[in-house]
Amino acid sequence: MVTTAQLAAWVDRFAALVADNKSHLTELDSAIGDADHGANMSRGMSAASEQIKDLTEGPADALCKKVGMTLVSSVGGASGPLYGTFFMKFGGQAGTVDQLDGQQLAAALRAGLDGVVARGKAAPGDKTMIDAMAPAVDAFDAALGEGASEAEAAQRAADAAAQGRDKTVEMVAHKGRASYLGERSRGHADPGATSTALLFQALGEALARD
Ligand code: ADP
Ligand code: MG
Repeated sequence: MVTTAQLAAWVDRFAALVADNKSHLTELDSAIGDADHGANMSRGMSAASEQIKDLTEGPADALCKKVGMTLVSSVGGASGPLYGTFFMKFGGQAGTVDQLDGQQLAAALRAGLDGVVARGKAAPGDKTMIDAMAPAVDAFDAALGEGASEAEAAQRAADAAAQGRDKTVEMVAHKGRASYLGERSRGHADPGATSTALLFQALGEALARD
């Protein structure tokens, strides 16, 4: 089972990883965007981490919706509304429970992914965060189907997200600012796919803890 406290640990770990990788995310976004992804994500996630301090013992949906709303309101770029949607849809699917079993966690992750797709209209191969998120959610499902624990499934999801991030290097962007570069967007990892790999790394680490 995954408790609300573990979901909070996930959010806090994601905030820490984003802060540690702020300049890397900025470098990637300066190559194919406007150099604000590191600043956007670290501002948004540090605000989110601060906002959930009193919600770690309550229902999963309140915690996740607070993260989502904080991201939407504190991040101006494309990534704020998209990650905000991920966490709001995740919370809506998780519901008012204070712990999730593997299948419930899988359904919440899937709802988050579907929300980002519905909002951003990116398809796999468009060189966006979807290219890390979709394989991660699929890997989580596949691992559970093979009898893995939530923690093992999260680690498999993290590995798949990292592979998906690496595959964006050779892609040409079809969505977001990077699409303005056309062919010149090739040769760099997508910033959002890189932060999404951190999102799943954080989940793997948070669930491995106990
Ligand atoms: P902005 O592009 O407004 O400067 P950020 O730099 O914070 O915002 O985020 C850029 C990232 O957002 C991209 O690397 C990409 O992964 C993601 N992104 C942009 N547009 C979309 C979209 N339509 N669907 C999914 N992800 C997107
Ligand atoms: Mg940007």
